[in-house]
Amino acid sequence: MHKLTRDKVCYAMSAENDPVLRVAAGESICIQTEDCYSGNLKTSADMFTKQMWPMVNPATGPIFIEGTSPGDVLRVKIERIDVADKAVMNLSAGMGALAERIGQDETVVMSIRDGKLIVSDTLSIPVQPMIGVIGTVPAGEAVPNGTPGEHGGNMDCKEIAAGATVYLPVNTHGALLSLGDLHAVMGDGEVCVCGAEVRGEVTVTADISPVSLPTPAVANAEHLMFIGSAESLDDCESIVLDKAHRFLTCNVGLGANEAARLMSLVGELRVCQVVDPLKTMKFMLPKAVLACLGWP
Ligand code: CA
Ligand code: ZN
Repeated sequence: MHKLTRDKVCYAMSAENDPVLRVAAGESICIQTEDCYSGNLKTSADMFTKQMWPMVNPATGPIFIEGTSPGDVLRVKIERIDVADKAVMNLSAGMGALAERIGQDETVVMSIRDGKLIVSDTLSIPVQPMIGVIGTVPAGEAVPNGTPGEHGGNMDCKEIAAGATVYLPVNTHGALLSLGDLHAVMGDGEVCVCGAEVRGEVTVTADISPVSLPTPAVANAEHLMFIGSAESLDDCESIVLDKAHRFLTCNVGLGANEAARLMSLVGELRVCQVVDPLKTMKFMLPKAVLACLGWP
């Protein structure tokens, strides 16, 4: 198994970044990740400062996946996610969907014990570790890791969890995969700008997807979902509906109207996050329905 330590980070997905590891397709990689604050917020006395912005959302990588070339779809299987025993949340005035309601800046450190995030003496929440940032080199200019896009990046999609498969575009030889920004738990929307931010270790395998499908996409046990990011949720909606419709017509072979009807009957249009420089939505199709249609 390849191992990548959490000091090998990048802050943007860019063709300029030199690979820190080269692996053959399908080989297991254990990737350590730092939290989204680069480990700078350790106690409730540590506040987020403007100087920390350039070090937000470190992603470990990039990893060169041998044999991948532009036009391929990279298939990343998330085999396992282990998170540390402390998570941190920082609220900063003027940030995010709840900006108007946030009082003083505050950093809260929470323990994770026996698979639960200890929120208070009376409330613990089962952890559902997920990957906030995962992506490849974008087709155009470099994209900072705080921003999501067609290359993946800061999608903050809570279904990117152990057992899931993430499909990403390959825009350069080797794909150059990076990931980080783990959350021990997070709700759809990530409305106060952070989840339970945590460092950890992710085990993945990456290879070329045998099927070409719109990206970014995520498959878990129940759903295949298509992800899109834009300045407004209206635009996100258009993007994800277009991807799902393209998938149902091109990959599954449905007629245009048939696909539209099915999307309305069984598709779930949901928000990933509303707090990053671009917002992100997902459109989820039940795999049981796709199986009845003969896919894959
Ligand atoms: Ca994030
Ligand atoms: Zn995060």
